[in-house]
Formats: sequence, structure tokens, C-alpha cells
Amino acid sequence: MLDVTESVPAVVRSWEAEAQDFATALMEHRAGYWLAGDIARRILTAASTDDGRKRAQKQLANLGHCSVAYVRQLAQLAEAFPEDCRYPDVAQSVYRACLAAGQYTKQPPVRILEQALRHNWHVRRIRAVGREHDAVYKASGQCIACGGTLRFYRRGTAGLMIPCPGCLADAKHERRSLFDAFVVIGALA
Ligand SMILES: [Zn+2]
Repeated sequence: MLDVTESVPAVVRSWEAEAQDFATALMEHRAGYWLAGDIARRILTAASTDDGRKRAQKQLANLGHCSVAYVRQLAQLAEAFPEDCRYPDVAQSVYRACLAAGQYTKQPPVRILEQALRHNWHVRRIRAVGREHDAVYKASGQCIACGGTLRFYRRGTAGLMIPCPGCLADAKHERRSLFDAFVVIGALA
């Protein structure tokens, strides 16, 4: 009888086992992160005074070898994201970005998480939620009709096509329809 495992080199099996252990460790790390957050949240909520809460934060930070800000963030994350939206395959950095974006835009962080997962946004894009008008968009290119080059940037929304200003000027001079001049040299993205 053919033993399938014999034909597989030992190194391949151990690689798979190692890779699985890596994935499991990461999942457990993420689960532990939520667990720590839940405990921190429970302790901080139970504190009856501001002073008591601050003392508890400090003690947790000392015991956990982390900063007070981190303890507070763990508790905020646990508060903002109930168990049914803690996905083991979503990195903590995504949750932190959604929390920050929620605080910035005064929206529920869960709603931002839903958006982020639907659009497959990375952390930088999540951080830009509510700051779209602060962003600088750039376009540059060469006009295929007249060979002119253009570099253009502005603050504000993206998604515009940039016509060639040279061709626009020519069209105006020759009294042609300006629509002839809409040679797109770049798209703001
Ligand atoms: Zn042109």
C-alpha cells in the first residue's frame, strides 16, 4: 500500500505545522488582546471615582508593562467593538484605526469597521475617514494631443479628470467648442 506521508519530505510537514502554529499563536494573541480589553474595561467601569479609576489604570499598566494610554485604549476597544464584530482574521491595527476614526468623526466605530471591511480598506485609508478634505491630491501627465505637460495638486476630493489647459486655450483661440479640448492628462486619485 502506498503511504502518502512517506512521499512528502519531512521538511514540508514541519513547515506546515510551523505555519499552523504561527497562525494559531497570532489568533490567540488577538483573542488575548480582547480578553485584556474586556478585563480592563470591567475594572475601569467598576471604579467609583475618577481617582480610583486612575489608580487602577496605573496598576494595570505597571503589571502589564505597558502605558496607561494603552490600558485605556484596550478598554475603549473592548467597549467599542462587541464580541460579534471581533474577527480573528482582522488585525488589531484595523480596530485601532476604526476607533480613532470613530472618535474623530463622532460616528460609531462599528459602522466604520463595517465600511472598512466592505471596501477592504487598509489602515491608512481608515485613518483618512473624515479627513478627505484635508488630503492633497496630485495629478501629473503629458497631453497626448499637444504634448504639453501639467502638474496639478489641490486639497479636497479626488476623482476628477483633468483636461489639458493648453488645448483649452487653443480651442478658445480658434473658437472651437471647448469640448474638443477635453484631453484628459491625469485623473486625481
Ligand atoms: Zn493639450
